[in-house]
Amino acid sequence: MQRSIVAVFLAICAAAGSLYAQQRTRNVILITLDGARTQEIFGGLDQEIFASTNKNYQKTWAYKRFWAETPKDRREKLMPFFWKTMLVSQGSIAGNRELHSSVQTTNQLFFSYPGYSEMLTGEAHDDVIKSNSHPQNPYPSVLDFLQKKLKLNKDQVADFSSWDAFERISTNNPGSFLINAGFMPYESSDREIAALSRAQSATLPAWNGARFDYYTFRFALSHMRQHHPRVIHIGFDESDDWAHEKNYERVLQTLNMTDRFLKEILDLVQNDPAYKGKTAIIITTDHGRGKTANDWHDHGADVAEAQNIWMAFFSPDVKLRGEWKDARTIYLNQVPATLCRYLNLDYSEQNPKAGKPIEQLFAE
Ligand SMILES: [Zn+2]
Repeated sequence: MQRSIVAVFLAICAAAGSLYAQQRTRNVILITLDGARTQEIFGGLDQEIFASTNKNYQKTWAYKRFWAETPKDRREKLMPFFWKTMLVSQGSIAGNRELHSSVQTTNQLFFSYPGYSEMLTGEAHDDVIKSNSHPQNPYPSVLDFLQKKLKLNKDQVADFSSWDAFERISTNNPGSFLINAGFMPYESSDREIAALSRAQSATLPAWNGARFDYYTFRFALSHMRQHHPRVIHIGFDESDDWAHEKNYERVLQTLNMTDRFLKEILDLVQNDPAYKGKTAIIITTDHGRGKTANDWHDHGADVAEAQNIWMAFFSPDVKLRGEWKDARTIYLNQVPATLCRYLNLDYSEQNPKAGKPIEQLFAE
């Protein structure tokens, strides 16, 4: 009798062990939309802000295309794939404060280098990282950690970003994995991609230090098809740049364009055997922005509400769908531990002070 109880106990332990091992996620993708406000993500076109930038806003193409009566209809017009496909059938999103869900940065600076450093290393260092021109990140990132833990080569971990600062932000050990940021050429045997690589430095945006997101998107997608990185960050930037330019129409067009990029990335993830059914994705932003017509274009420690962000999650191992409601606040510093948790790895091995995995995602 005693012996059979032990046998049953052992069988249960073995089953539990194999369940754990059956976790399907093998790849992780982090996608960022620089400074994309919660207001547009959850509510689409903001009429008051559009009106403040253009008194004839109702005559614009963007207004005709993206205006609707309700926030739900507006956001679905702005980002139809994200809202009507991704979040319905594959994932969930936190940060809609109307539904009592909040996502915040733990850094108190609310601009990009501190935000991305917190997102990639798991810890804010407001005393050290306090400028976008900070040199090489002194702290190792989750990309560095995963490269070591998974024994990945230079192409299997990658960062494709529009903003050139990612060369400094994404690692404390430059050269260890591929970073293609700013106007760096992307070498490719594909003639179309090679032509785009030449074109990027001849198609200059109105701002310095970042190429158009289209190039970042095409290079990242090409790299995924060819090298199947298991860990990749894709960093889009135009959502921030057009806002600083106070060009609200372009902010809307950019979010809509990014939605089409997401669709193509998801098409690849769902069809390529290297990614299909075994890839988790986090989509988020590095900081919020102002809320009013006077400060929506700006962000930083002195801009009210710029700490409020949003975060979306997609994983074959997580059942949560749609918008989070009545949820405990989550933080940007939880991204590395969560990416690692998807892969059954423990990020606290690299940084015990980093934010913990987002437990709502892994609750039974
Ligand atoms: Zn900015």
